[in-house]
Amino acid sequence: MPVKKSNAPAQKAAGGHAPRRGRPRARKPDPAAAREIFARFAQASPEPRGELEYVNTFTLLVAVVLSAQATDTGVNKATRALFAAADSPQKMLALGEDRVREYVKTIGLFRNKAKNVILLSKRLIDEYGGEVPRSREALETLPGVGRKTANVVLNIAFGEETIAVDTHLFRVSNRIPLAPGKNPLEVERGLLKIIPKEFMRHAHHWLILHGRYVCKARKPECERCGIADLCSSKEKRV
Ligand code: SF4
Repeated sequence: MPVKKSNAPAQKAAGGHAPRRGRPRARKPDPAAAREIFARFAQASPEPRGELEYVNTFTLLVAVVLSAQATDTGVNKATRALFAAADSPQKMLALGEDRVREYVKTIGLFRNKAKNVILLSKRLIDEYGGEVPRSREALETLPGVGRKTANVVLNIAFGEETIAVDTHLFRVSNRIPLAPGKNPLEVERGLLKIIPKEFMRHAHHWLILHGRYVCKARKPECERCGIADLCSSKEKRV
């Protein structure tokens, strides 16, 4: 929620002139505060988990591809039946695009996503022996897979210390601020710099969950925020 601006007239300084208002100083991330923030996240939730459901690395990849601009809950509703029918690239290809489309039709952009699921299954079979590759470059060549999806798969399936910047990470990182940036890549780079190594593995889950359930877009729930004393957001409400 935007900060309410005061309607009070500017107070005049001695001599009758209004005090000069310089540019507001940019809020800078504080490494010591960042360490304390992640220490608290770790204490509250030592093993955070994402909310997308999957049964193996292939279905994780498909679930993340389907989750673009959709909620995890909505994706899970559709994928329970889809993954029961097809949990490998071979089975997905055999199922065919029309049937995949039927399974995922409740998810936004489902036509394009169904097409990508079939194309990426075929590519995995043709070029990677039916396995999901453990490399960003290879993952990003798959249809429907961009940097964010690759980062999620590398982090969850392969335990790599990657940061996938979604809408929640972008907002929270700019708000606190942890890693201000104009686009997801800037925020990702800032987070990789400021997050202490021992917290990197789970950082993206902690930030997603914090953004989804506490530091919400329109009404951050600052009164129950465990890091409020370390946050210098203009939107802070405590
Ligand atoms: S104090 Fe409010 S704005 Fe700051 S991180 Fe917590 S919920 Fe977000």
